Amino acid sequence: MSGINIHPSVDNGVKAGSDQFSGGKLYCHCSSNQVEVTVKAQCMHNHVCGCTKCWKPSGALFSQVAVVPRDAVSVTANEDKLKVVDSSATIQRHACQNCGVHMFGRIEDTSHPFYGLDFIHTELSSEQGWTAPEFAAFTSSIIESGADPEQMGAVRSRLKELGLEPYDCLSPPLMDAIATHTAKAKGVL
Ligand SMILES: [Zn+2]
Ligand SMILES: [Zn+2]
Repeated sequence: MSGINIHPSVDNGVKAGSDQFSGGKLYCHCSSNQVEVTVKAQCMHNHVCGCTKCWKPSGALFSQVAVVPRDAVSVTANEDKLKVVDSSATIQRHACQNCGVHMFGRIEDTSHPFYGLDFIHTELSSEQGWTAPEFAAFTSSIIESGADPEQMGAVRSRLKELGLEPYDCLSPPLMDAIATHTAKAKGVL
């Protein structure tokens, strides 16, 4: 083993998703009265993320995060335990106040390129078949959470070995989508 803990969902190899899969339930880490979020869609753009804002399990260098249409997301049990982590953030992360797990992240700004998509952590579901992570976003940002800068070469090598191309922002298709949205809003496209 490499000794580098990217994320428990990928450390033993990335598992492929299923084309037949159409969603499942996410549960927080409480031992009782778990917050339950029902997602009625397959996820898209699943990736590991090195930013300091996404929720990640302890010991992992990266979170694992994907998007689904917000219409497909509903809180189906113990909604009263949820609270927005930082209401000034672009992504409103709804977390369980008891265990700290982020159940979903929502963008309320209708002009944002990703408005209409919610961010979810598929590892909170016991169902198999979610689309597998495809790349690593904000790789350099793990240093801001305390990762050793000297270790970055090894981290990037490990990500490549897992088939998760490391980027220091989002992937090129997502960066292009953001720029296209901005260009259309400005009227240059
Ligand atoms: Zn909880
Ligand atoms: Zn992130």
